[in-house]
Amino acid sequence: MRILITGAAGFLGSHLSDRLIAEGHEIVGLDNFITGNRENIAHLMGSDKFTFYRHDVSNYIFVPGKVDAVLHFASPASPNPKSPSGYFNLPIQTMKAGALGTHNSLGVAKVNQARFLLASTSEIYGDPLVHPQTEDYPGNVDPVGPRAVYDEAKRFAESLTMAYHRQHGVDTRIVRIFNTYGPRMDLEDGRALPNFLKQALLGQPLTVYGDGQQTRSFCYVDDLIDGIVRLLYSDEHLPVNIGNPVEMTVLQFAETINKVTGNAAGVVFLVNERSERDPQQRRPDITRARSILGWEPKVGVEEGLRRTIPYFKEKLGLA
Ligand code: NAD
Ligand code: UDP
Repeated sequence: MRILITGAAGFLGSHLSDRLIAEGHEIVGLDNFITGNRENIAHLMGSDKFTFYRHDVSNYIFVPGKVDAVLHFASPASPNPKSPSGYFNLPIQTMKAGALGTHNSLGVAKVNQARFLLASTSEIYGDPLVHPQTEDYPGNVDPVGPRAVYDEAKRFAESLTMAYHRQHGVDTRIVRIFNTYGPRMDLEDGRALPNFLKQALLGQPLTVYGDGQQTRSFCYVDDLIDGIVRLLYSDEHLPVNIGNPVEMTVLQFAETINKVTGNAAGVVFLVNERSERDPQQRRPDITRARSILGWEPKVGVEEGLRRTIPYFKEKLGLA
């Protein structure tokens, strides 16, 4: 297939490009570098399997030649209010990437009669009142809350994707991605793993926000990409959760990182740093992914951290 990936220079978009090229596909990557990094795709530049266009997906997308699939991954993704690349600081760009960017990407899929896959998120469940989250749970969100620019853009993107499927017959898929980590994450984007791993490798205490009792489930990037590729090859049109169902508190996650890195500096609790509406609990129910895609994650958190550390060391000049 010739596959268009929006957000190709991002953490997930670049891994997806690698995996699909390895499977023999050709990739057309789009990115405006608002949160991504040229270095993530430097190794693909010059390959006859990879073409890149610098483009903002909020504007009309024209791709020369036939496209067989469109994977829409372009969007800021970090919820940290202090990070310049977080969606709190890019509110309008985030809404435009989710709304106009999804519309334009769906337009490319429609005109090409191509498959379409939307990168949605566990954030559409908001601060969930049902645990673990199944795909039929509609969520607990606030349209004017601080996270709304991201949540509501993604919720709109899901609705628009289903509208194109139902009205125009576009062959769509929706993946709801839960917290994912691995090499090529932006060290400065303020998410828990980049903050913690950077701090641990520098011998500093890990900044746990609040009391650290809020939970998350962290998925290693190779597992996530495998689930997404299986979804792309499937015929499933309704949303599918992809994430690691092993739930831990943020404090346990920090302690695991200290153990794996041998950091003796411990943790520091920053009680006022938790952002408003930071979800208290989050864990995917992956029953649908297991039954429809035959997928489940294989990489445990300690192994995933060991695979991620060399990248962080290189970026920190410690390699
Ligand atoms: P990222 O910031 O590394 O990648 C996003 C990419 O999209 C960046 O390269 C950025 O420059 C690009 N982009 C943003 N707006 C754009 C625009 N208007 N035009 C063109 N390019 C644009 O983030 P990521 O973690 O790789 O996330 C990728 C996708 O996966 C996002 O849609 C995000 O919402 C979703 N997601 C990620 C996670 C996760 O844990 N990483 C969880 C849930 C959902
Ligand atoms: N967090 C933390 N310390 C940090 C960064 C994040 O304790 O330095 C917490 C954050 O408050 C949240 C969890 O870790 O409860 C996961 O945050 P992240 O930004 O990775 O993504 P989210 O799951 O909130 O989308």
